[in-house]
Amino acid sequence: MQKEIYDINQDKKEIAKLLQKYITCIFQEYKEIIPIDVRKMLENISNFEDIIHIENTGTISLFVYNNQVFLPNDAYKVLKSMAKIPGFGLNKNHQTHNSSNMIINDNTYLTFVKHVFLKGLSPVEYFKEILLHETMHLCGSSGAYALYEGFNELKTREIALKYHFETSCCGYPKETKIAYELQQLFGKEICDKLTFASNIPDRLKLLEIEIGYDAVLLYSQVLKEMQLQFEPYMSKKYPGMLGIKNKCSEYAKINYSKVYELIKQYQIKYSTRSLEDEAKLSNESQSKK
Ligand SMILES: [Zn+2]
Repeated sequence: MQKEIYDINQDKKEIAKLLQKYITCIFQEYKEIIPIDVRKMLENISNFEDIIHIENTGTISLFVYNNQVFLPNDAYKVLKSMAKIPGFGLNKNHQTHNSSNMIINDNTYLTFVKHVFLKGLSPVEYFKEILLHETMHLCGSSGAYALYEGFNELKTREIALKYHFETSCCGYPKETKIAYELQQLFGKEICDKLTFASNIPDRLKLLEIEIGYDAVLLYSQVLKEMQLQFEPYMSKKYPGMLGIKNKCSEYAKINYSKVYELIKQYQIKYSTRSLEDEAKLSNESQSKK
């Protein structure tokens, strides 16, 4: 039975503990890639509860802003209403992914909402499924653009897979796939650096030195085109229960076909394979067996 009275202070403590664990791990994983000022700022925090705030934010998703972590009051309200709907918590073992489809899958925000409902998550359990993605932001991975969110989510899933951390694997599905495609072209090491780079000039410079001008061109065109498509979705707020439906339908409208064309052209020029090609090849080899 879902508790309807939540212990907010206990939630704050739990999130703070997990946050500290994730930061230690991210520092270990990306070592010198983490911007030095960010590392110093986080190392100076003696009690992580000090940077966690439970407030009205106009969203239901946990997020990081100005080096502070916000747990929205609306999440408590929405989950309290959800818990009253028959079927809530019907499948306590519900999962959105397994280890083989953690990085690339077709999950969306709707998958996540269904998961929250079927598994019958409490607010703190719900926050925990978003926390790793947000901790990556706190550690210096920007979310300023759609492409950055794609890389942030890709890196979140990679680290969750490696360390068996909890994460929904439902965030920014379209952007994550594009980040993955770019990682196939540029390599993981460079994409790790791109994720934590301080600004656009630093990212472009890195690509120019490590790969070449075509990579700079592709990256900047993809960045720009994605933003154009992503902006209408991002500029809206989605509060409360109704917000869930609006958020899903608005996200469904995002169309990155021009981005895929740009990637395809680069792939043809440099003879690399896309996700689609890999899937075709694997189907062909399986049908031959
Ligand atoms: Zn994000």
